[in-house]
Amino acid sequence: MNTGDLRALLTALTSLPERRRREVRIPLAVATAVMSVKEDVLSSNRPVNVSLAGCSGAPQLTKWQPTSDVVPDSFPTDYPKPPPHNPPKPAPNRAERLYSLRQRVLTCTTCPHLVATRNNVVFGVGNPEAELMFVGEAPGADEDIQGEPFVGAAGKLLTKIIEAMALNREKVYIANVLKCRPDMPPGSSGNRPPRRDEMASCLPHLLEQIRIIAPKCIVALGSTAVCGLFGLSEIKMSVARGKWKLLDLDIGDQGSVPVMVTYHPAYLLRNQTLSEKRKVWDDMLAVLNHLGHPITERQRSFFLSPGR
Ligand code: SF4
Repeated sequence: MNTGDLRALLTALTSLPERRRREVRIPLAVATAVMSVKEDVLSSNRPVNVSLAGCSGAPQLTKWQPTSDVVPDSFPTDYPKPPPHNPPKPAPNRAERLYSLRQRVLTCTTCPHLVATRNNVVFGVGNPEAELMFVGEAPGADEDIQGEPFVGAAGKLLTKIIEAMALNREKVYIANVLKCRPDMPPGSSGNRPPRRDEMASCLPHLLEQIRIIAPKCIVALGSTAVCGLFGLSEIKMSVARGKWKLLDLDIGDQGSVPVMVTYHPAYLLRNQTLSEKRKVWDDMLAVLNHLGHPITERQRSFFLSPGR
């Protein structure tokens, strides 16, 4: 290739419109050669040695193909910019959703009379991925102080029951229908059961918790919790205990969550007969069976005879 060919090549290139020039395909060796020859050499008629390694034969201008992958000069700047890459955010997991709900419930002021006397909103505790939830009625004095459900005497018994099921408090989730302690007359001690209207006000919080956790089943502890959960005015525990009730919720594939009705641990503290303990234990065995957990012979025999 001589300087005449190079001049012809440059003339052809420079005569093209800017956009077309950037779309011209020429062999890479020729492009390199053109760009390496100095201006003063091109303006003279002296012969020039140009290496066309990789290029077969002299370049034929008529064979140039429009393309965009080999650009002999600068890159274009007037092409449309691609949209910014914003990958979709992953959906928040259960722990994040529960945390977000907790933040809202902690500042809830729906019941001014309870807000005025509460020390803490007792949201709930446990594993956001729990397959088993325990639901009680409302926080008592101990729970109100500590901000955690079931930490008093009844709570300690519930912990024992959970551990007898070969589980622990970290594996399950524990909550109440009412998140604030029912207020008491000034100067009086003890706890009172939550009213129906109070539980109805707070129930959306609990239902949202259940939707997020999506447990395989729930244990409702005591008649007040059952009434609050299902919006009932009253139930007979002698009839309802030991039975499953379906709580209709829109939880993924599950349209509803089975709820095992059993006694509140406080009831067992007042009625410590073997037969009452065994009734509750029978309910827990049914729950373990529903969850598909193995049950040992020792577990099956709890409270069947004195000392067990
Ligand atoms: S009891 Fe429930 S609804 Fe009422 S103020 Fe407390 S969190 Fe809100």
